[in-house]
Amino acid sequence: MKQCDVLILGAGIVGVSTALQLQKRGLSVILGDRRSPGEETSYGNSGVIGGPSVYPVTFPRNARKLVEIALNRSTAARYNPAFLPYIAGWLVAHYRSSAPERLEYVAHAMHPLMSRALAEHESLLDSAGALGYLRRNGWISLYRHSPSYEAVKPALELGREMGRVFSVLDTADACRLEPALNPIFRHAVHSQDIASVSDPLGVTRAYADHFRSNGGTFVTGDARSLKRQKSGWQLDSGEGPVMGREVVVALGPWSSELLAQLGLHLPLAVQRGYHNHFATDSSADLKHPVLDADIGYVISPMEQGLRLTTGVEFDRRDARPTPVQLERLLPQAHRLLKLGPAVEKQPWLGARPCFPDTMPVVGPAPKLPGLWLTYGHGHMGLTLGPITGRLLAETMLGETPFTDPRPYQAERFLN
Ligand SMILES: Cc1cc2nc3c(=O)[nH]c(=O)nc-3n(C[C@H](O)[C@H](O)[C@H](O)COP(=O)(O)OP(=O)(O)OC[C@H]3O[C@@H](n4cnc5c(N)ncnc54)[C@H](O)[C@@H]3O)c2cc1C
Repeated sequence: MKQCDVLILGAGIVGVSTALQLQKRGLSVILGDRRSPGEETSYGNSGVIGGPSVYPVTFPRNARKLVEIALNRSTAARYNPAFLPYIAGWLVAHYRSSAPERLEYVAHAMHPLMSRALAEHESLLDSAGALGYLRRNGWISLYRHSPSYEAVKPALELGREMGRVFSVLDTADACRLEPALNPIFRHAVHSQDIASVSDPLGVTRAYADHFRSNGGTFVTGDARSLKRQKSGWQLDSGEGPVMGREVVVALGPWSSELLAQLGLHLPLAVQRGYHNHFATDSSADLKHPVLDADIGYVISPMEQGLRLTTGVEFDRRDARPTPVQLERLLPQAHRLLKLGPAVEKQPWLGARPCFPDTMPVVGPAPKLPGLWLTYGHGHMGLTLGPITGRLLAETMLGETPFTDPRPYQAERFLN
């Protein structure tokens, strides 16, 4: 039976980055997934490394926006009414995390990760020979109406205090930076310290290839076959059983199933999101990802075309796609930018794995010695994969981690 120091379950950006970080520190690692690396949530995101705000993505506290959401008319957030009873407790906890003092707490708690996220990606991209995917030219947030711009000012102010680098632009300046935009917005913010990638799947694949070329093993298998043995954890894989002295769960939105089998229940929900690519000619091409804040979507230049990603949909993870938000916001997107025909007939659907306080869980699994967790990266998994991989690797090896790991540990939900 093939044996290793650490078996990692899940080869999305989080699992693959963790594999590289452990391998870099001299451990033998087997990475397992039922699919090829990067083909689930880590495929379809907006490709942004960093957040436009130091505040997390959470519920608006603005009465008009809340009424729009309650009536299911918002383009930014939508829910299946039949699903609400199943997620009510989670939604209440998530709503609490949008209180001003909680937003500040999360902004400070996430700062050690967010402020190092890009540097950590750059280091992995460099060693994987994949720097060609990276654009270091920032991201642009557009505000069609002045009240929505006024509402983000406290976050901008806190961001400035925390060292964020951004410029506030008027309509003309923003159109000079991004000439394809129609001037239908009043305010813009160019966050210069944010980067993006032109192909998130390409990045995860490049990391996985680098892991393999350094001697790492990738196996195909179902994580739910995991069994605890005397000397470690065993997985049934297509290549036969494999065994790790320790195991890391990095299954993103699927993590809860395996953990429930092992008796661990943490409050993970999913926030579904869609994307479609649109063909474009050179006159309509974008150089930066753009957030249309009042409507609630992002357009990112990708290798496949302009990728339009939606906000949040609350429904069962595996419920059939209902891309209502995409249909509703497309006329608004066409007003902002000359989009060509959709590249795909059916939009892509993915599920952001989210804890109610918006922070991931990274650290040991309570009462399960030898089992480690890194999941629930929510809206920021592409950004945070490499840096949370480093934090977990340093914690597992007993090194002094670059930051206090306690805010991210599972115990916060069990006390
Ligand atoms: C529309 C949208 C836009 C986004 N935009 C951004 C952005 O711009 N920037 C950003 O930082 N983040 C963004 N995100 C969030 C980001 O994509 C996710 O947080 C991240 O991809 C999660 O990575 P992961 O590795 O945890 O999960 P995944 O990529 O889903 O990986 C989990 C892996 O587990 C495997 N798996 C599941 N079940 C099993 C099983 N039983 N056995 C074996 N393997 C299994 C899956 O095949 C998968 O490969 C966005 C998300 C969405 C949906």
